[in-house]
Order: sequence, then C-alpha cells, then structure tokens
Amino acid sequence: MGKGLKLEKTEKIWLDGSFVPWDEANIHVLTHTLHYGLGVFEGIRCYQVKKKKSAVFRLHEHTDRLFNSAIILGIEIPFSKKEIITAILQVVKKNKLKECYIRPIVFLGHNQMGLNPNGVDVRVAIAAWPWGAYLGDEGISNGIRVRISSFTRHHVNISMTRAKACGYYVNSILAKSEAVRDGYDEAILLDPQGYVSEGSGENIFLLSKGRLKTPSLSCSNLEGITRDAVFEIAKHLKVEIEEGFITRDELYIADEVFLTGTAAEITPVREIDNRSIGNGKRGKTTARIQKTFFEIVHGSHSKFNKWLSEV
Ligand code: PMP
Repeated sequence: MGKGLKLEKTEKIWLDGSFVPWDEANIHVLTHTLHYGLGVFEGIRCYQVKKKKSAVFRLHEHTDRLFNSAIILGIEIPFSKKEIITAILQVVKKNKLKECYIRPIVFLGHNQMGLNPNGVDVRVAIAAWPWGAYLGDEGISNGIRVRISSFTRHHVNISMTRAKACGYYVNSILAKSEAVRDGYDEAILLDPQGYVSEGSGENIFLLSKGRLKTPSLSCSNLEGITRDAVFEIAKHLKVEIEEGFITRDELYIADEVFLTGTAAEITPVREIDNRSIGNGKRGKTTARIQKTFFEIVHGSHSKFNKWLSEV
C-alpha cells in the first residue's frame, strides 16, 4: 500500500494557551480522546499572497466550524473565538511559515476515564507545517482515479455530520485505505440511502450539461468551506450550480467531476470505478474554477480578499 504523507517538523506548537517546542507537545496515554474519539478539529491553509505576505484562507469560517463542531458534541472550548483566531495566526508567524497547513484540535484530557465526559479537561492544540498538494501535483493537473467505497458514510443520526469530529475519521480511513490498497487515489462514499455523499476528506462536484451539482447537506457530508467557495466562484464565473441528490451512475456519465477540500484544494477526477470521466482529463470548467480558486487564495482577486486573514 502507498505510504501516507510525510510530516515536516516545525518549531513550536500552541498547547492550552502557550507555545511549546514541537517535540514537547505530548499527551498522556490515558487521554480520553485517544480512547473514545470525542474531539473536534479543523484543517486550514495559509498561502503566500502578493508582496511576500501570507494570509490564512477563510480563518473565521474555519473557527466558526470548530466551535459549531464543539457545540454539536457538547464540548465547551475553554478559549474564545478571538483567542483561537489570534493563536492560529501566531502559530504561522512563530514558525516563520509562508505557506502551510494548520491543524487546531480540541480534545479531552486524562483526568477522568469512562464514557461520561462531564468534568474531563478540555484541551486545545494548534500545529502548523508545510504541506503540498494532498492528492499530488499530478492529481491537481491531470486528475485522480477514484473508486466508490465498499464502506458507507455515517447515518446522520449515528454521527452528526455537521461536526468535524475525530472519531468520524475511522470511517474515512477505512475507505481511503481500501481505495489506496486497490490502486486508486481516493474513495467516494455513498450515504446510507445509496446517494453520493463525499470523498474520505473532500466534497464532490459534477458537471453535466454545463451545470454544476453537488450533494445536498442531507447526504451525510461535511459542510465544506471549499465547497462554499466553489458556490461563490461559480456565481462569479456565471456557471449554474445546484445542490441535490446524486446517484452513482450520474457520476459515471458526468462530463466533469472534481473534489474540494482544504487539503485537496480543487482536484479533478479523471476516472471512477475504471470508467473515464468526460475525456479522461481535467475538464474545462474544472480548470476555470481551479484557476480562480488558486488566484483567490494568493490574493489576486480583490473581490475575494475578504476571505484572507493576513498573518
Ligand atoms: N468532507 C470531509 C469528510 C472532510 O474531512 C473535509 C476536509 N475538512 C471536507 C469534506 C472538505 O471541507 P473543507 O473544504 O472545509 O476543508
């Protein structure tokens, strides 16, 4: 099986309100979240913008989602949104990173064990490191090969999928490793009704007859921030876009398919279950959306600079 992505060490990690050296940001083996998976996290990117400055992309939206995830799971974050936003910007600055991936995580500590989480310390860590294209530079340019997973996405009353919760990713990992083991780059999961939900860590879009379509948020998927950016970009490019229910065969006969996510950015899909999508290359509309997205994150679209928080 292909290896996972290497982690490049940086200097400091923010832990519970102060900076500690990378190697000292450690936790106890009886950490509650390690055993039961109740915790929430975010994945955020910071890009170099014009004039050699850096900016975090959609920092406020990611912070809002982190706090909403915590509300959904009944976790009280012991910091304000403002404190978390400041800490995220400081992590990038302290580590002298121009472009990076940022990982805030809210987890339960080790002062209690057992399933009742009341009274367990709530802890917060924020790390950042340089991270290239999650599905590869080749994938960004030429598209990736995916399979429909044999694993089903969570039922919405088994796992509340508006939350980006640690434990939910066991399902994603099973799907991703099955796909990679079988020679694909990524997995697409269906919801419990059999409709297309999302990738293991990405939302999905298709283009058919000139219209973009993505699964509705009732399809057990995460409300992606890149997904939302694609809605705005489509509006800007005057491409029609809709949410709805998507069947597996609808994907097979789509003209274009692409995945979106903070890590994956905008990655074209060139093949699904050994069927070529469109002409088997990055589609024209996908390329336009991708190009606009990369221009926006690098600060070349003043209309979208509201999404950038300078470091
Ligand atoms: N779905 C899942 C399961 C994810 O983990 C992610 C990545 N956070 C996404 C979709 C895409 O979300 P975003 O665009 O906010 O990164």
